[in-house]
Amino acid sequence: MTSWTRPFLRATALSFLASCLTIASSQAWSQPARSKPQVVILATGGTIAGAGASATNSATYQAAKVPVDKLIAGIPELDNVAQVRGEQAFQIASESFTNDKLVELGKRVSALVKDPQVDGVVITHGTDTLEETSFFLNLVIRSDKPVVLVGSMRPGTSMSADGMLNLYNAVVVAGSADARGKGSLVVMNDQIHSGRDVTKRVNIQTNAFYSQWGPLGMVVEGRTYWFRTPAKTHTTRSEFDIDTLRSLPEVHVLYGTGNMTPEVYKAAARAGARAIVHAGTGNGSVANYLVDTLKALRSEGLHIVRSSRVGDGLVLRNSEQPDDKYEWVVAHDLNPQKAKILAALALTKTGDTKELQRIFWQY
Ligand code: ASP
Repeated sequence: MTSWTRPFLRATALSFLASCLTIASSQAWSQPARSKPQVVILATGGTIAGAGASATNSATYQAAKVPVDKLIAGIPELDNVAQVRGEQAFQIASESFTNDKLVELGKRVSALVKDPQVDGVVITHGTDTLEETSFFLNLVIRSDKPVVLVGSMRPGTSMSADGMLNLYNAVVVAGSADARGKGSLVVMNDQIHSGRDVTKRVNIQTNAFYSQWGPLGMVVEGRTYWFRTPAKTHTTRSEFDIDTLRSLPEVHVLYGTGNMTPEVYKAAARAGARAIVHAGTGNGSVANYLVDTLKALRSEGLHIVRSSRVGDGLVLRNSEQPDDKYEWVVAHDLNPQKAKILAALALTKTGDTKELQRIFWQY
């Protein structure tokens, strides 16, 4: 035997052994050898599973109609990029997500990413609250495996439906080694966004999703292109863990306008809110005639988180309002719906205002 044939035979034997082990441990998957990344598509409903009466119904249709296996069967090209299997978690429009459903979904994602046979998870989701779910998973899933959320703005029955390519792209990202360790991701309209930053900005166009600090990258013809990494703490370094989380406390968002009614804030407290996210005007400002009510609610134990209805920018602490004096928290750059998610999670850990503010700076 020549000196080069021995290592060759050893390598061949090792790879044979490895494929036997793979066959033995991957019975749930349709193909025995693990030549492609294994991606689970966890379906929750939304427009990407929607159906309209005709091809011209791009905006009027019923969400959450098509089961996940049908979605997968409609994209045979998935087979070129990953070994895919589907799981139907829910079949709902995303405006009907609740805290309990978030926790349930998170626990399932956590179980999937712990499976050594799973390389990545795609979650099909309605676009309306996709940004809340993506931020939640960014905070509570303790894994660096890609968790990719995807939706569509048009149902699959419409002309120029966007769901097929969005889902294909999401599977590409979920199966990419270079998507690991970047926190939860949202793939829409060829862009890869951080699940923390992304928000829905347009309600009837395919370019609906936007991140004020920019997308992380793009996915084009089955390849990923990255340009940034998230700056805030997420997933493996997060102090939140879905495996130990049982439920989330109530947090209410109240929208700031001219001529507010103090009684509405008191009603939120009476309804069981542990915190109110004030989606204030401009810098999350609180009207002079509301200040006493919010101070009184804080002294009764309810937390006040100042966010902004503006959408972009960041709320500055102790600017127009003396947050230190009133013991209020600012939401940093998080929009009100994302601030609601972080406030709820933070309240499972602490009731201390300084700690809550530290969490808002960090995540
Ligand atoms: N209302 C739908 C949902 O969020 C909208 C969509 O998916 O685009 O489920």
